[in-house]
Amino acid sequence: MQSTLQVDSPTATTQVSTPTPTTVVRAPTASVTVISSPPPPRRDRPDVVLITGIAGQDGIEMSRFLRSVNPNMRIIGIDRRHTREYLPHIAEALRKYVDEIIYADVMDYHAMLDIIGRLRPDHVYHFAAQSFVAYSFMNPAATYENNIMGTLSVLSAVADVHPTARVYFAGSSEMWGRPSTTPQDENTQFNPRSPYAVSKVAGFYTARYFREAYGTFVASGIASNHEGEYRGHEFVTQKIATWAAKLKMGRYEDIELGNLDARKDWGWAGDFMGAFYSMLMAERPREYAVGTGVQHTVRDFVEEALAAAGFRARWGDEGGSAWDGDTRVALVHINPKFIRPLESDNYRVDASRIKQELGWEPRVAFEGLVHLMVYAAERRIQMYGY
Ligand code: GDP
Repeated sequence: MQSTLQVDSPTATTQVSTPTPTTVVRAPTASVTVISSPPPPRRDRPDVVLITGIAGQDGIEMSRFLRSVNPNMRIIGIDRRHTREYLPHIAEALRKYVDEIIYADVMDYHAMLDIIGRLRPDHVYHFAAQSFVAYSFMNPAATYENNIMGTLSVLSAVADVHPTARVYFAGSSEMWGRPSTTPQDENTQFNPRSPYAVSKVAGFYTARYFREAYGTFVASGIASNHEGEYRGHEFVTQKIATWAAKLKMGRYEDIELGNLDARKDWGWAGDFMGAFYSMLMAERPREYAVGTGVQHTVRDFVEEALAAAGFRARWGDEGGSAWDGDTRVALVHINPKFIRPLESDNYRVDASRIKQELGWEPRVAFEGLVHLMVYAAERRIQMYGY
């Protein structure tokens, strides 16, 4: 499949025309229709899909997934970071899977109105967000602005100019905070413990009120950590996988980590994209918990990544080390700088609702995920040197 990356000039958003007020039509009566009689099932596949946050992990993984569903689908991404060059492996993926990138800020309601009104996408995946939890403690205001106002603006634009579009809202297991009960599901109480989590809870309820008040087809996932080869380097999984891949290639370096005991439900991002897609293909929009149902610690991730690279982990009080059998080749240091003011963990997701209603189940288990990431990191280092 040949797809071209049409990269608009950074000034693209300035071409956005301000709509006349008459295009702003919201239908407050639609809620009754949605609750009492859901719209007819839509079994045909989308022709045009809009993805916000296209250059992030989920934007790329979703484009790749959609290409496999229908090579002729028109996939358009929104990205706001036109000032920075993409890392080569990200640029390569965007060229391969995405037809067009529009540079715009999701917080700019008028830009969203123009883009959504012009493209009339069948599906909108709203992934654009400040998604790094640790950074959200450093800049809560930017996190709230991007994640809450961005969601409001996208949903408002859909409701006002193209209300038949189906929207996915990316909720997160972080919204549960540190739940005392496992597993978690759609009924588990939210107890957000980071600015990121607070912003996602606000976005989640914003999506719910658009669904109920305006009849917007907006489905929300409460997704646990999902990882893969396009994960950003600031996330612990990519950091560990890249380190292990370097050891495998004979580049012995130490690594600094924070809380090794954090317990997460890590799944493969490619699997999760199938879950999000199935939510938009469903008869009605709902909220679904998405995860693998298996819990692992950061320590487990280190051990598995070292195993994938042919090493063994030995743990001590201060951290740990990687052994090639007889010889210690690298150290794991604990650096308090990577420990957060509040930890959110103890996730193990019960995804029965999505399994029963939409038939979704993850295919890649933890071990497969870690090996996949170490292998991809090795390939990336060989190709691009990082
Ligand atoms: P998050 O779950 O979305 O915040 O994803 P991260 O990959 O950033 O963090 C996952 C878990 O790893 C969190 O519980 C962190 O506290 C823990 N962790 C331990 N060491 C590190 C580290 O060096 N970097 C990051 N990002 N997280 C770490």
